[in-house]
Amino acid sequence: MKPWLGPEEIAAVSEVISSGWIAQGPRTAQFEAAFAARMEAGHAVAASSCTTALHLALVVADIGPGDDVVVPSFSFIATANAPTYVGARPVFADVDPVTGNLTAETVRAALTPATRAVIAVDQGGVPVDLVPLRALCDPLGITVLEDAACAAGTRYAGAPAGAGAEIAAWSFHPRKILTTGEGGMVTTSRPEWAARARTLREHAMSLSAAERSASILAPSESYTEVGYNYRMTDLQAAVGLVQLDRLDAVVRRRRELAAGYAKAFAEIEGLRAVTDPPWGESNFQSYWIEVLPDFGTDRNGVLEALAGEGISARRGIMASHLEPAYRDRDTGAASLEVTERLSASTLILPLFHEMTESEQARVIEAVAGSRKP
Ligand SMILES: *Cc1c(COP(=O)(O)O)cnc(C)c1O
Repeated sequence: MKPWLGPEEIAAVSEVISSGWIAQGPRTAQFEAAFAARMEAGHAVAASSCTTALHLALVVADIGPGDDVVVPSFSFIATANAPTYVGARPVFADVDPVTGNLTAETVRAALTPATRAVIAVDQGGVPVDLVPLRALCDPLGITVLEDAACAAGTRYAGAPAGAGAEIAAWSFHPRKILTTGEGGMVTTSRPEWAARARTLREHAMSLSAAERSASILAPSESYTEVGYNYRMTDLQAAVGLVQLDRLDAVVRRRRELAAGYAKAFAEIEGLRAVTDPPWGESNFQSYWIEVLPDFGTDRNGVLEALAGEGISARRGIMASHLEPAYRDRDTGAASLEVTERLSASTLILPLFHEMTESEQARVIEAVAGSRKP
């Protein structure tokens, strides 16, 4: 991954610096409004990362000690860390072998009497099938949060990903589809959750710093509960506004490149590539392939062969339950067979906005050449 940044971002940051107000302020408010509109979300609250956005989302959904939160192990570890921060127990569920996402069936297998929330991830940009998940969870009073870290520009059931969730969290890390360096967002359909997240991310101050600095004699604020400093800066928000304008072009180009990979890999025996599910369109934030046994070379062998050609690829999505942070914790008893298999047999290939056809041809050739039938 390589972020697509240009003179427009530089100009936007310069403007904020010249304004004299670089912390969270008017640009952040503007970015929130633009993001909410683009994602067809009721409310958007900027945060310092997706990890802090997930933490805020769990706090406003009133998840805490004694609660179980079902999460995929097959995800970046922040998905499991967020429930741990609030004193809840992450309970790992397995994923669908085709999409790499939670399903109503895998979640059902992980439910406990203490389950109060599920974090459904749009893994690598592939939209999670939210409707059946909510059909299972809503009647049980279980909140479904969407970890849409990877999903800006992904579509689900004819709308942007995240639009169908009560609450969703987004990432603007450079590894994701649009970037602010570091940054995140909470979107939610519930105004009272948005209001509380907005306060909590700024030390739970009754008046924001931007409001207080608007007058010479600042009105005094109070601290309504124990909050956090999870603010975004206006420097970041200015970059985010430009990046949001680039989103459609980025997704269009990624889907073109993904189609190029798909066409090539369909002709190579022993490979299975990520694709759109029937219910939506991926932004292909991560383009992964699964190396099947009849490819002859295993996943690590393919990574090494690519490295030998000067091509840097990455192992696929991690299995959080195998990491030292969670290995010895009680995280439920669901079978995680698909997670372990996908995590060991998949790799993520280079894919970035400015990638050329000849660069892509080199990657395809190196993958094909690593096969040992
Ligand atoms: C990247 C990622 C995160 C963490 O995002 P940050 O903005 O780096 O905190 C969380 N969940 C998933 C699924 C991710 O891919």
